[in-house]
Amino acid sequence: MAVLIRGVDLEVSPAGKANDQIASTLRSAGATTVLAVRVNGEDAILAVGLVDHERFDLDAFGRDTEVVTVADVAPLVDRGSRAGDTVVDVGGVQIGGSGFTVIAGPCAVESSDMISRIAWAVRAEGASVLRGGAFKPRTSPYSFQGMGSDGLQILSEIRATTGLPVVSEVVDARDVEALVDHVDMLQVGARNAQNYSLLTELGRSDVPVLLKRGFGSTIDEWLGSAEYILVEGNENVVLCERGIRSFDPSLRFTLDLAAVALVKQRSHLPVVVDPSHATGAPNLIAPMTLAALAAGADGVIIDVHPDPATAKCDGAQAILPEQFRSLMAELRPVATAMRRWIAAPTLSTIA
Ligand code: PEP
Ligand code: MN
Repeated sequence: MAVLIRGVDLEVSPAGKANDQIASTLRSAGATTVLAVRVNGEDAILAVGLVDHERFDLDAFGRDTEVVTVADVAPLVDRGSRAGDTVVDVGGVQIGGSGFTVIAGPCAVESSDMISRIAWAVRAEGASVLRGGAFKPRTSPYSFQGMGSDGLQILSEIRATTGLPVVSEVVDARDVEALVDHVDMLQVGARNAQNYSLLTELGRSDVPVLLKRGFGSTIDEWLGSAEYILVEGNENVVLCERGIRSFDPSLRFTLDLAAVALVKQRSHLPVVVDPSHATGAPNLIAPMTLAALAAGADGVIIDVHPDPATAKCDGAQAILPEQFRSLMAELRPVATAMRRWIAAPTLSTIA
């Protein structure tokens, strides 16, 4: 069993030694393993350890200490580890809380002209974050792999002109530094969902991370991946359900909306849904967006392309700007009924 101890009432000095001191107190109280220790100012000391409850001596900590039992696999991701929901700030746009964030754009950046057309179109309809991959993890090494650093340059320019924050995929830990100069959020794709060295690297930065669920990952495995980022100190994580592989070939993947409702109960992290990659079917993007909202998701990420037939990547699942417009028109009254407001770019991000 893991316990999370909040408000550890200890004299910690000198400051640099605080973590060691708390860890050793946790051990002397009976913890077999110390998983994480955080000191965020005087009142927010947090320690997580695996303990044998019968032998755990709470008196080793001060009177104001609060001990919560949390999941072993992902204690920092567990809802018990903090009061309330985590809200992640992505270039001035909040994901989580009472908002519902619509992220939209092409699967991949293909040219300055196409991303510009899409960015202005989705912004006009109420998207508040732009998506677009510069590095693409493709099933075949012969498929379009993305525009790479030229794509990042284009994303930077479009971010500056439209004011839309940008999310783009990172496929290699060595690219993190280059990406953070150009985009506001790094996406870890389904194929890298358990690339622990990449997750650890992202944990050492403070960049917001959109962590997709691997299409073969259980919920525990998905939350465990998020824990790799949080344990390094980066709490700016948004989870993304993007479909899992099932026996049925009718759709690209099977959208697991029950996982969204369950993860919202189990974790304080925001959860968004990717109906485009989950279904691969343009006619299902609008109904699955409404269903995601009803299931408690904090947002959606949608593939929109000006000419899906010529798209270099995932054209078969992209919707046209006019289909995105009618999706947003359907979404607004449902959001109101669910008491969620559709997040808009803040004034400071609007160019
Ligand atoms: C994507 O969003 O373009 C993508 C590759 O998604 P996933 O990792 O979910 O397949
Ligand atoms: Mn794609």
